[in-house]
Amino acid sequence: MRNGLSKDLIARVLGNAPKYTLDELESKFPPRDLPDGALVTRFAPSPTGYMHVGNLYGALIDYKLAQQSNGVFMLRIEDTDTKREVDGAVEVVKSAMKKFGLQYRNEEQYGPYYQSQRKDIYHSVVAYLLENGMAYPCFLTSEEMDGIRARQTASGFATGIYGEWARDRDLTEEEIIAHLNNGEIPSIRLYSTGNPEQRIFCKDAVRGSISFPENNEDTVLIKSNDGLPTYHFAHLVDDHFMRTTHVVRGEEWLPSLPLHTQMFRMMGWTAPLYIHTSTLDKIDAETGKQRKMSKRKDPENNVAFFLADGWPTEAVLEYLGNILASGYEEAKMKGLAKSFWNYEIRPKKIPMSGSIFDMKKLEWWAKEYIATLPVNTLVKFVIDWANEYGNENNKKQIANVDYLTSVLSIERDNPKRIRKDFITWQQTLNEVSYFWDFLFIPNKEYEYNKDVLKEFISTFDINDDKDSWWNKITEIANKFAIKSGELAMNLRVALTGRTNTPDLYSIMQVLGSDNVLNRINQIL
Ligand code: GLU
Repeated sequence: MRNGLSKDLIARVLGNAPKYTLDELESKFPPRDLPDGALVTRFAPSPTGYMHVGNLYGALIDYKLAQQSNGVFMLRIEDTDTKREVDGAVEVVKSAMKKFGLQYRNEEQYGPYYQSQRKDIYHSVVAYLLENGMAYPCFLTSEEMDGIRARQTASGFATGIYGEWARDRDLTEEEIIAHLNNGEIPSIRLYSTGNPEQRIFCKDAVRGSISFPENNEDTVLIKSNDGLPTYHFAHLVDDHFMRTTHVVRGEEWLPSLPLHTQMFRMMGWTAPLYIHTSTLDKIDAETGKQRKMSKRKDPENNVAFFLADGWPTEAVLEYLGNILASGYEEAKMKGLAKSFWNYEIRPKKIPMSGSIFDMKKLEWWAKEYIATLPVNTLVKFVIDWANEYGNENNKKQIANVDYLTSVLSIERDNPKRIRKDFITWQQTLNEVSYFWDFLFIPNKEYEYNKDVLKEFISTFDINDDKDSWWNKITEIANKFAIKSGELAMNLRVALTGRTNTPDLYSIMQVLGSDNVLNRINQIL
């Protein structure tokens, strides 16, 4: 530890006197009054305008841990990096949270939830550190730091501001005042007493206890340009005073764990339990090798893609849920869990590496999920999607809700034989497009048996029940010495343009007599 600064000097260094003492902060943000075992988690995105699937994965873990323990799940906007901030980015996050149903509870008492609005809290804590010799003002300019880095690199030292390289670590009050009188604005750095020859033991829920060399870097806590905290310091202060119990974050933060553990110990605070999640990879279509998802190459890396393409959000969550809790699929198949929301996950079991996000698997989850929907729910999802994201044709398809409902009702009445060919809301509308004349594309390639078709329309009656309808088909087929299936195929292609469709009788019923006759006559 170094000498602490006087209160007056602290006020000068920070540009303002601290608003709170630590005790005041402790009582302003008291420990939460929650049932035993309740976890407090937070999703803490930086508003960069892009929410990737890894963010959604993390947010799902946060949400789930809070939900299953009757705890609290918060949304905190980490907007301290003003250079990277993008307009409208917070809206992107909030709307995705809403669409995926990951409802957060930001209780006013523990706010504000935008880090940019918490400056007085950070300054109050850093004032405590300055007063107690655990932090110091640093007047190094960026040119000076570049110089230090160049010298360190040239002579093979680790780069950074630490030990002897930390020029301002032990400035006296007089020296600090001289810098201030010179108009210089300092950053505030941690006065690290860590020794990299020694090891610090840190805890991660998945990895257990992990040891690292102690941190000796005088990490920046408060930046000089805007007085805002770095991630490291904001995390310390916010997760303590928001009373976060579990921090779920990407594994890219693992190397910072010794620093964070050091800071929590320095403050005498209990650190939250960390869960560092592995990145979601994919199998590269060209090389067949596992690799990280890329913003440039993989549209599915962007959460907005799933919404725009109409993937059922619940199915995306179910699949992500199965990635983070690998026993879920089996439990579901065995009927032990109806949905991910009543399946208990265990932080310890969250995978620490090698997780693959595979669109083919997602398709399976989506098909299974859509197959469980009552037709009216399916119709509602399709309509909501088309209204927001659909093209002109999609909008015409949803105009007549009754007709759309009959179309989507086909092969949904027998719970054992529900069709499983719907994957996304968009693809659902494409899959059934032949029900609308303006989208129907007659199949001109197919070699129709026109005599048979002629005979069929001469006997056709829309009011026939399924058995009489089929009897007629068999009779005609016999008469022409062909198989009934062949006749059915002729009808199927004539009516839908396709060789593969759900139940033909139902299709005719939905199309109606005029359409059936028109389409066959067109072929003839
Ligand atoms: N803003 C940080 C990020 O987006 C949050 C990390 C954390 O959850 O602590 O990576």
